[in-house]
Amino acid sequence: VIPVHHLPPELLLATSAGRTDEATALVAAVHLTLCPTCRADLARLDAVGGALLEAAPAEATKVPDALWAKLDAAVPEPTPPAPAPSGKVLLPRPLVRYLGVADVDRLPWKRILPGADELHLPLDRNGTPVRMTRTRGGFVLPRHTHEGTEMTLVLAGGFTDGGEHFARGDLSVCGPSVTHTIHFDPGDPCVALVVNEGHLVPKSAWAKALSWFVDF
Ligand SMILES: [Zn+2]
Repeated sequence: VIPVHHLPPELLLATSAGRTDEATALVAAVHLTLCPTCRADLARLDAVGGALLEAAPAEATKVPDALWAKLDAAVPEPTPPAPAPSGKVLLPRPLVRYLGVADVDRLPWKRILPGADELHLPLDRNGTPVRMTRTRGGFVLPRHTHEGTEMTLVLAGGFTDGGEHFARGDLSVCGPSVTHTIHFDPGDPCVALVVNEGHLVPKSAWAKALSWFVDF
């Protein structure tokens, strides 16, 4: 399955320029392992960046059409990634670097709610820990909003948010003002990498979710 929800252009540009914080770089790296489309786009950007470095500074602001055409011709068509091995959810390599194991079932999950587990990576963004979440099929996270941007990258299973479906490899980026309800797919659990930005450090985002349940 090739992802349909990709890295936003500004994130691709920042990745190419090496100007992302570590948590964002991790999200980008994991998506890139699962997405041939973004890999090809990044290869184009990297090539343009290289070409711009060689160009005179005065001319560095505009990429000639002829160069774009050449780059388009140079990048091979994306090849679909190998299908996920059946039965087991294996994590992409950039995540294994942080977690030590590839098998999702061997991670030290902590139960936060009935049907919802999480664990913190040894990494944070502005003080908010980067998390892995595992949510049982059919779970519904009621209407809620965020203090800052939230990036959710699906690694297994899927969910629907605002009429859009997200599955393995798909990236959901929600701004701070977005109020949404998340419906997880029935069946297998949904495993995701979640990066929130915010200056406050909540005890856990799922604890907040619990309060939404109570208000619901
Ligand atoms: Zn992509």
